[in-house]
Amino acid sequence: MNILILGSGGREHSIAWAVMQNPKCDKLIVAPGNAGIAQIAECATLDIEDGAAVVGFCDTNAIDFVIVGPEAPLAAGVADRLRDAGLLVFGPSKAAAELEASKRFTKEICDAAGAPTAAYAHFTDAEAARAYIREHGAPIVVKADGLAAGKGVIVAETEDQALAAIDDMFGGEFGTAGAEVVIEEFMRGEEASFFVLCDGETALPIGTAQDHKRVGEGDRGPNTGGMGAYSPAPVLTDEIAQKALDRIIRPTLAEMARRGTPYQGVLYAGLMIENGEPRLVEYNVRFGDPECQVLMMRLGAQVFDLLQAAAEGRLDEARVNWADDHAMTVVMAAKGYPGAYEKGSVIKGLEDCAEDSFHMVFHAGTAETDGRIVAAGGRVLNVTARGASLMQARDRAYAMVDRIDWPEGFCRRDIGWRAL
Ligand code: ATP
Repeated sequence: MNILILGSGGREHSIAWAVMQNPKCDKLIVAPGNAGIAQIAECATLDIEDGAAVVGFCDTNAIDFVIVGPEAPLAAGVADRLRDAGLLVFGPSKAAAELEASKRFTKEICDAAGAPTAAYAHFTDAEAARAYIREHGAPIVVKADGLAAGKGVIVAETEDQALAAIDDMFGGEFGTAGAEVVIEEFMRGEEASFFVLCDGETALPIGTAQDHKRVGEGDRGPNTGGMGAYSPAPVLTDEIAQKALDRIIRPTLAEMARRGTPYQGVLYAGLMIENGEPRLVEYNVRFGDPECQVLMMRLGAQVFDLLQAAAEGRLDEARVNWADDHAMTVVMAAKGYPGAYEKGSVIKGLEDCAEDSFHMVFHAGTAETDGRIVAAGGRVLNVTARGASLMQARDRAYAMVDRIDWPEGFCRRDIGWRAL
């Protein structure tokens, strides 16, 4: 099969790496890709949020199967355009992608499906939102309704912080994403991510993970896109995963199908676990980045068969071939990230890192200039390893980090601390 992957991050590098290993993959193109992806696949320039352009590209390049990485093309309806054109696609329709694009929508689905989640109210009026906050007190969580690149959520420890968040959101700080606001009960517990492939009807779990959002060791400092991840997440035991499937995921799929917008793709459920009971924090309609990297490392070549089965509506026949293993990814970022950082510094030592089914350096923000790999973004490399234990995966990952010669970069040294 000829395959096109849309995206340019570490997530897409890891998907490409797994898909490539499957003998069914004849040709692989990633658009737009990055310098690391270019070492294993063809990269192409393409506006991936322009459905007509993507359809045209598939036509010209005889593509059979499109895998959509990030949320933006999904929210823009690119999967719909591709399906209308008769292509096989992994990724939800625009209507189903509302599960990520609108927090209010997700809350309504949870209500209809009886899925456990935080109590909430929804506002389009600042004064009513303020009154609700004064009534309920802190801690309380204020969320811009739309996509805000992970920045539209304020976990307020005091009433004043929550009220200030209302001023910011209705003041236009998050553009149209903040024109509607969801205010939620603060949930206590431990967070973990649960990944499930869906074909509209059937749900197939493909793994659990935990990530580290804060930039600093000990989970301190500002929020980032993610500084590292590991899989499996020990807190998400089989028993809790089964509860999440029965009470949250399957009822959600049934409600989406009932509304005539069945969900096909990966459903990434952010769960809060307290006293053995999972509640939904949020849905994402794509793989997490960097959680994807640890899942791909563990699943390997079978990923292609699983994604194809999801796209073809055959997940009831699909089985995951589980290994009793662990994976960890350590993000190396440019110094200054998530604030201002420099681009263009040269990264050396990558050639000294083994690349096999236990070790991979997935590229995120890199570029190639004059045959050298240079930093071209905030999060730059995802140093990923697999082992028989999390400790072994960690030791392998940090041994690779130590071989990489990039004085302008940094990483957290404590990825996985909670599980270890
Ligand atoms: P991201 O894209 O970074 O995942 P997002 O903008 O989609 O974030 P959420 O995942 O809903 O937003 O919230 C971000 C984080 O805020 C969560 O991972 C969680 O740590 C915290 N959070 C959100 N809602 C609650 C809640 N009701 N109670 C406690 N913490 C919460």
